[in-house]
Amino acid sequence: MYFVPDETERCGYYECEGCGTRFLDVRIAPRIVCPYCGEEPDMEVGPDDPMPETKEEAVLVKVVEGEVVEMYDKLLSLAVTGGDFGWI
Ligand SMILES: [Zn+2]
Repeated sequence: MYFVPDETERCGYYECEGCGTRFLDVRIAPRIVCPYCGEEPDMEVGPDDPMPETKEEAVLVKVVEGEVVEMYDKLLSLAVTGGDFGWI
């Protein structure tokens, strides 16, 4: 497994609107911060600084479960190394 741990039963398949990366994540939410181009908020801001904005650019395309998780993981891993997403 490349994106999620072995034996993952259920995960989200995401596509990032910012960088176009498609990936799996064990978190399941309508939108999450992209692990490739997004940044977690910086907690070291002073009291006078504006609240940091999180950009949740990765959009949940679908939830994958069971054996499909491993299939998606394999195919996406190949797509990452080959740079071709045309199969989806
Ligand atoms: Zn991104």
